[in-house]
Amino acid sequence: MGARARRGAVGGGEEVGRATRAALLAWYRAERRDLPWRRTRDPYAIWISETMLQQTRVEAVIPYYERFLARFPTVGTLATADLDDVLSLWAGLGYYSRARNLKRAAEQVVADHDGRLPDEAEALQTLPGIGRYTAGAIASIAFERPAPIVDGNVARVLARLLGLRDPIESVPVKARLWQEAERLAQGEAPGDLNQALMELGARVCIPGVPRCDACPVSQRCDARAAGDAAALPVRTPKRAPKRVDAVAALVLRGGKALAVQRPAHGLLGGLWELPGGEVEPSRRGSASLAAVIRARTGLEVAAIRPLGEVDHLFTHRTLRMRVFRCDAARGRVRLDGWQRHRWIAPDAFDAIPCGNVTKKALALALGAGGSR
Ligand code: SF4
Repeated sequence: MGARARRGAVGGGEEVGRATRAALLAWYRAERRDLPWRRTRDPYAIWISETMLQQTRVEAVIPYYERFLARFPTVGTLATADLDDVLSLWAGLGYYSRARNLKRAAEQVVADHDGRLPDEAEALQTLPGIGRYTAGAIASIAFERPAPIVDGNVARVLARLLGLRDPIESVPVKARLWQEAERLAQGEAPGDLNQALMELGARVCIPGVPRCDACPVSQRCDARAAGDAAALPVRTPKRAPKRVDAVAALVLRGGKALAVQRPAHGLLGGLWELPGGEVEPSRRGSASLAAVIRARTGLEVAAIRPLGEVDHLFTHRTLRMRVFRCDAARGRVRLDGWQRHRWIAPDAFDAIPCGNVTKKALALALGAGGSR
């Protein structure tokens, strides 16, 4: 029977079978990369790695994972840590709500679970920041529970294997993916099986043109038989990210620079940055900077000097920020939109948690003599 003639309710072929499961396990055990979090069964370490790996490449995660585990080796050390220290170790990894949730979840594990992570996916999902995917990963990898996982890599592999040709974001396709992942997780070594799917998606069944010749399940793959693997998974087109213009400044007083801290929740929550704000694209000059600083900090600034621009891509928007250096001439700090401020030596920004946009702006400000 042809692959296209075997489609199911959401446009896919037959369910993934036992032979596919065995082939995936054998391939994973022979081919898996030696990654730091694969050398441990410590549920805490696996939780940290899975949280860092969300939206972030393996190579980028490794040094952060090692530093984090060296500094906070147990749930207890994370629960009692200062949030600023946690955010400092996270700085540069992005999606800072992950770090804040880790800390809150560690506190909850200590308070409600005697310092030990629950071993069932359902209980894990009651912790802040742990969704269905992370719960499945921890339960299966650390505790060998038959819990399914579906992330971007797994979704791509299953969509191709099964020949799911409706948009991958659609509710029926998502439900089918979880159903198949659940079926696959039943049986021997659910943790290895889940990691096999992730590993195959990361290295063989890659986005764009997959490496089907190196694939252990190519004989059972609907998309390969149909010749449309590169076109799968089907996605609904994304809207272009919105562009936002902003100004920010290294504001100096007596050799110290003004640092302001964002509210604890929301985008870049709890991180420190240079004062500034969003502006109309046509109003990015010195007068506009002075008005933004006055409105948001209460300070009158003088000797304003433009230094250049930095760009940054967030998930749903691109930020174009014009960076200035100026002196605080008059006024007392009254913040609008930040939770607190400090006057610090310009090079002391290295010692407080800042996001990537701020780091880029500081490189420009300090590189251009902004500290003088
Ligand atoms: Fe992916 Fe190709 Fe393997 Fe199918 S045969 S699962 S498309 S790598």
